[in-house]
Amino acid sequence: MKFAIQSKGDDTSNELKDQIKSHLRGFELAYDEEEPDIVISVGGDGTLLHAFHRYVDRLSQTAFVGVHTGHLGFYADWTPDEVEKLVIHLAKTPFQVVEYPLLEVTIRFNSEGLEKRYLALNECTVKSMEGSLVIDVIIKGEKFETFRGDGLCISTPSGSTAYNKALAGAIIHPSLPSIQLAEMASINNRVFRTVGSPLVLPQHHTCNLRPVNDVNFDISIDHLFLVHKDVKSIQCRVADERVRFARFRPFPFWKRVKDSFIG
Ligand code: NAP
Ligand code: MN
Repeated sequence: MKFAIQSKGDDTSNELKDQIKSHLRGFELAYDEEEPDIVISVGGDGTLLHAFHRYVDRLSQTAFVGVHTGHLGFYADWTPDEVEKLVIHLAKTPFQVVEYPLLEVTIRFNSEGLEKRYLALNECTVKSMEGSLVIDVIIKGEKFETFRGDGLCISTPSGSTAYNKALAGAIIHPSLPSIQLAEMASINNRVFRTVGSPLVLPQHHTCNLRPVNDVNFDISIDHLFLVHKDVKSIQCRVADERVRFARFRPFPFWKRVKDSFIG
């Protein structure tokens, strides 16, 4: 089995990375940053997002595991003092894998035929580059509403505890293949109207965002910020691909939610 380690880059995470690396090599596991079977992220949830995007082209062959050197994370749920146990698990036992749903974002441009496809582990956000975002929300091919406001956030179940939560979106269990559309400060008055509540869409219910006048957008995919000009539509749906996490011990999602937000 081949492994790679992604560190947050601070001294603590780098030291832990070296420690894990030499332990695993001691068990005859090969370090391979190009084609790893397992990617160990050392840092925080943000570090795991980086690791995810680095290996996004080989998700079916790679499993992720996260160690946190700061606070408990949703993806980074191993503590540094559990690392020895983790290493032995990795070296000695075939690990179980849990799969979480991802968000597929396809951005189409007015220039004929051009499109870009992304996968998000947490979410995609869409904001206008200037002033309010005005965008038609189309669900399953039917216009649902015209949104006016700061922006929209479309999240995965495992991303529902991140930006989506700050927008009063619901926390969704990652066993539900779905995406959630949450509003950022919508304008609601006699003239402009949006539903106001976050929407949870199941698999195959595609949500299309179509610009009403402005065609230049700030679009984020997880921690990545992209500027897009001349946008025709932004299509969001549950991706066919899934992310795989190596599971060595049970740590139920609701317990992670409780430990992270309630204490
Ligand atoms: P960051 O600004 O360092 O991250 C913001 C916080 O979100 C960090 O505490 C991060 O944990 C945490 N986080 C990331 N994924 C999470 C998840 N699935 N569930 C719960 N918390 C999560 O930037 P970053 O580390 O590069 O992370 C990018 C993410 O930040 C974006 O995907 C977005 O979800 C989130 N974000 C949130 C807000 C907001 O809440 N208002 C605004 C912008 C972006 P770590 O400290 O462990 O990295
Ligand atoms: Mn971070």
